[in-house]
Amino acid sequence: MISIKGLNKSYKMGKNSLHVLKGIDLDVEEGEFVAIMGSSGSGKSTLLNIIGMLDEHDSGTYELDNFRIEKLNETKAANYRNKFLGFIFQSYNLINFKNVLENVALPLYYQKVNRSDRNKIALGYLERVGLGPWANHMPNELSGGQKQRVAIARALAAKPKLLLADEPTGALDTTTSHEVMRLIQEINDEGKTILMVTHEDDIANMCKRIVRLKDGVIISDTKVNQVRV
Ligand code: ADP
Ligand code: MG
Repeated sequence: MISIKGLNKSYKMGKNSLHVLKGIDLDVEEGEFVAIMGSSGSGKSTLLNIIGMLDEHDSGTYELDNFRIEKLNETKAANYRNKFLGFIFQSYNLINFKNVLENVALPLYYQKVNRSDRNKIALGYLERVGLGPWANHMPNELSGGQKQRVAIARALAAKPKLLLADEPTGALDTTTSHEVMRLIQEINDEGKTILMVTHEDDIANMCKRIVRLKDGVIISDTKVNQVRV
């Protein structure tokens, strides 16, 4: 599903440039559940953002589902994201002036699904994450764990091939983190390919493979016995 070879990324700041990803090689097959680990500043989010077409690499190659990702204009990149990718972030990124159902239905709006179908589909995903009765509530009426479940429902609504999660449990207490991880494990059990950034060992051990980054280089890549929650 993902094939990355010799990928480099620098951030330019005035005359200076910070070399953040240094020759990354990474292959991910359909159905995998990969944790990207590393300390703060090691380049995890940069790598995930490039995979998610939210940012561009400087050199090397990146293929997603056999499609070579190169300089894409924003419209094309946005189309690709809507069609192939689901995102989950530490800060949930819900739209606070839209209710829960409208948040989940949003990717379907961009896919030009008509209103009654998208509400039906969105409600199905809300029920899947245990939040059917919350459909008409506003995001600020929900707990952190509930907000993240809404974000997961929204990510799934677009039927993405690949789910990208950047520290999805980073703002949650341990019990709530584990509930969210149980849901993400179930989604992977159903066949979804998942890449998840985390800096917490116990969360990474709930994935099936751990890729460790240090200063922009992959220092280890191992299959693990998944800890079930
Ligand atoms: P991580 O997610 O592992 O904490 P990041 O990928 O966010 O690391 O950042 C890697 C390095 O790149 C850090 O030193 C960070 O400060 C820098 N960086 C990240 N994004 C930008 C940006 N948009 N402009 C300049 N520097 C950035
Ligand atoms: Mg980060």
